[in-house]
Amino acid sequence: QDLLSQEAAAPEGASAAAVTSGQIAREVTRRRTFGIISHPDAGKTTLTEKLLLFSGAIQLAGTVKGRKSGRHATSDWMEIEKQRGISVASSVMQFEYRDHVVNLLDTPGHQDFSEDTYRVLTAVDSALMVIDAAKGVEEQTIKLLNVCRMRDTPILTFMNKMDRETRDPLELLDEVESVLKIECAPVTWPIGMGKTFRGVYHLLRDEILLFTPGSERADQEFEVIKGIDNPRLVEMFPLEIEQLKMEVELVHGASHPFDLDAFLAGRQTPVFFGSAINNFGVREILNALLDWAPAPRPRDATVRAVEPTEAPFSGFVFKIQANMDPAHRDRIAFLRVCSGRFERGMKVKHLRLNREVKVSSVVTFMASSREQVEEAYAGDIIGLPNHGNMQIGDSFSEGELLQFTGIPYFAPDFFRSVRIRNPLKIKQLHKGLQQLGEEGAVQVFKPVHGGDLVLGAVGVLQFEVVASRLMNEYGVDAVFEGTSISSARWVSCEDKKILADFEKSSAGGNLAHDAAGNLAYLATSGVNLRLTEERWPQVTFHSTREHA
Ligand code: GDP
Repeated sequence: QDLLSQEAAAPEGASAAAVTSGQIAREVTRRRTFGIISHPDAGKTTLTEKLLLFSGAIQLAGTVKGRKSGRHATSDWMEIEKQRGISVASSVMQFEYRDHVVNLLDTPGHQDFSEDTYRVLTAVDSALMVIDAAKGVEEQTIKLLNVCRMRDTPILTFMNKMDRETRDPLELLDEVESVLKIECAPVTWPIGMGKTFRGVYHLLRDEILLFTPGSERADQEFEVIKGIDNPRLVEMFPLEIEQLKMEVELVHGASHPFDLDAFLAGRQTPVFFGSAINNFGVREILNALLDWAPAPRPRDATVRAVEPTEAPFSGFVFKIQANMDPAHRDRIAFLRVCSGRFERGMKVKHLRLNREVKVSSVVTFMASSREQVEEAYAGDIIGLPNHGNMQIGDSFSEGELLQFTGIPYFAPDFFRSVRIRNPLKIKQLHKGLQQLGEEGAVQVFKPVHGGDLVLGAVGVLQFEVVASRLMNEYGVDAVFEGTSISSARWVSCEDKKILADFEKSSAGGNLAHDAAGNLAYLATSGVNLRLTEERWPQVTFHSTREHA
């Protein structure tokens, strides 16, 4: 209300707004917000580092990941991360390149794979899929791609490690198409591999980019030779060039030409070959990201779609990270700006609590440090410190009731039952799990017919984090034990009577409520889940659920 009356009172409001809207449009157009999806060891960290090097955001290779201590030195700003030498939760890196502002959202892999990894992908406008060309499509890539598919996120593909013996490039494309069900449009094509890797041929520009190994420098210029028929090529590597010509003919005949609309619709992925560690092919990826990947797009809210260029500020929280000071229980909520211009010190409305918040202390994420943010636009991520009153999926605006949609909880893959050593601490346990559940650190299920609480996670490290946080922040010494549960599905049914029958049936023994009170079916095996689904065709079993 405050804000509305201020606006109405300002006589010069109209012209000020006009300037702002032009400025907002310009800022939105030059933004790219993306995440890297890959299986552990495919080269995500290496590529991230090279992207930052290119932009000048960091000067030295080796700063993204402290190799000795483990991982992600740059995003290591939480105590727990430093102690463990891993990144418990993902972070954000912002850098500028070619007059664009690029937000790279880290999607943790490895043991630290968690729901955050999935949810970060709901806050990006495009994704870069990195594949180890020696290994092809791997398990975690499949999972992450499926999450991208929920929003038809455009995907660029980088086939990495061409300086090693890899699989046949045509076979790799075939695997991406058949396993990931996405059309491949090769943009560059490798010339040789491993010891005889000579470079790549740019199919759209008819240029050959010559490979020289061992370039840690960002300003490394790779020599370009124009035209596949250039006689210099035959002199330089007669054998490989014959092979290349044959393959290019094959590729032109057998694969899809790049189609920008198909890419933007998430149906086709442009494919680049290279070697991240040698900085080779990285510039091509970065350019493709700026030239082809979309600027921030409209986002769906319950009442309407929100355009990124709208003047009023709006955004949603997609991730909460605990600031590991147990005395303060500080949290940082990661908010993706969806529209308007955010300015430090402005008042925004926290819609779930119907409360105005003055945002004076906000963090943004430059590649090298955490800094105070002065302004932000659609596509940017800002960090809001809070004391546990913000939840994943919360929306913020200048007053309009806009609940953004599409920020899901994902059905967990791993389960533990929880006991405590000291029964007097049961209250603290419940409170701790409730709060950690709201924060998205873990999912908490309470069996309908009693029994131990069940925790669910998409990555096993989540349990370790929860155990240590229960201890440090709530003084609860909890024991986690394996369970017979193998998967969970949220259930719903239009027909209340059928749902009641379902709850009373033998399947009812497997029902539980999650932290938000939603009913879920905890299956003991894949077969058990399938049989139950078959037996109850009117009941729907959901593998994701939206923020309540
Ligand atoms: P992440 O787990 O996906 O972040 O992968 P990393 O970036 O940590 O890379 C995993 C391993 O592959 C490291 O030992 C890298 O040095 C190595 N690596 C990354 N890119 C390349 C490449 O282009 N060629 C070769 N030969 N090794 C690479």
